[in-house]
Amino acid sequence: MATDSFGRRIDYLRISVTDRCNLRCVYCMPPEGVEWKPQADILTFEEIERFAASAVHEGISKIRLTGGEPLVRKGIVDHIRRLREMTGIEAIALTTNATLLPRMAGELAAAGLTRVNISLDTLDPDVYASVTRGGKLADALAGLEAAFEAGFDPIKINVVVVRRLDQDLLGFAKMTFDRPIHVRFIEYMPVGGDDAGGSGCTSEAGGWTVEDTVPTDEILQRLMTEGAAAGLGTLEAVSVDGAPGGWGPARYYRFPGAAGTIGVISPLSHHFCAECNRLRLTADGRLRTCLFSDDELDATAVLREGSDEDVRALIRHALAIKPENHDMRIGTLRRMSQIGG
Ligand code: SAM
Ligand code: SF4
Repeated sequence: MATDSFGRRIDYLRISVTDRCNLRCVYCMPPEGVEWKPQADILTFEEIERFAASAVHEGISKIRLTGGEPLVRKGIVDHIRRLREMTGIEAIALTTNATLLPRMAGELAAAGLTRVNISLDTLDPDVYASVTRGGKLADALAGLEAAFEAGFDPIKINVVVVRRLDQDLLGFAKMTFDRPIHVRFIEYMPVGGDDAGGSGCTSEAGGWTVEDTVPTDEILQRLMTEGAAAGLGTLEAVSVDGAPGGWGPARYYRFPGAAGTIGVISPLSHHFCAECNRLRLTADGRLRTCLFSDDELDATAVLREGSDEDVRALIRHALAIKPENHDMRIGTLRRMSQIGG
């Protein structure tokens, strides 16, 4: 079992397999996209698998693949199969915009993928097109259906809540009634802007700022009021046992009789650093100990020049220097697509 210097159990590794994406969400990338890293700087699947094996040796048992959009990377299905076959890995999860799931969900499930988080911020086709800069809502919804057909469990929908978008939160909540869909509302994080490191930073997302972050207490209050007015009953807290098995800091709720749940994730309003259980590996091989910290360790150099023991030593070093909290620092030099969320 791996613990860091603050006694936190670290068993979860998020791996970004690419910095590329087929969408350009305004809060994640600038309109022209970020400058893609040269192919030679991106870790090969073989290097990622070697890193994962070392991480498992140091106590990691859960892996989430993210990006950029992980499904745009050629060979991802076989990569998942090989990770799944690695002894010591309990489960592989995927965070995706779902647009490629209609053609890939079946083979992903056959490769051993079980858990999917689908990012979907609005159910309005026009707003979806504008937030993703050209994406089609129908593609993402078809991806959600494909996820059900493939039998993934749990299926979660991540909704980044942005004040100026004024999203129909109740519309998402209603999706939890008939099927075991777990909708998680996430506070918008103004990261990756020019003012990296400053709490007033913008993400160049059409001028979105920290003012656009809607605290999860307000989200819950809205759901309760609107839910009661719509006759959906009272939103009730769900015990850990009743929540969809999660690896992260979501708190779960449910409307009476609903098949799925509603989760809230509060990176800004309620720091969950004390429960942090993760490390992050970027597509260009930088090991990050905290989403909000730009102190990165160069895993590429160690993977390309060092022994397996050197890779393990790097991971132990990351655990030793993992900060206790992010100290209200919410700016990062990298864009979200370059970290993996
Ligand atoms: N392309 C995949 C997707 O969209 O699910 C995986 C990568 S994306 C960077 C991972 C997650 O980060 C998504 O759920 C996305 O909504 C979230 N994200 C990106 N930028 C964000 C921001 N500024 N604040 C909060 N969440 C953000
Ligand atoms: Fe792409 Fe995901 Fe970022 Fe949207 S949030 S631009 S889908 S990486």
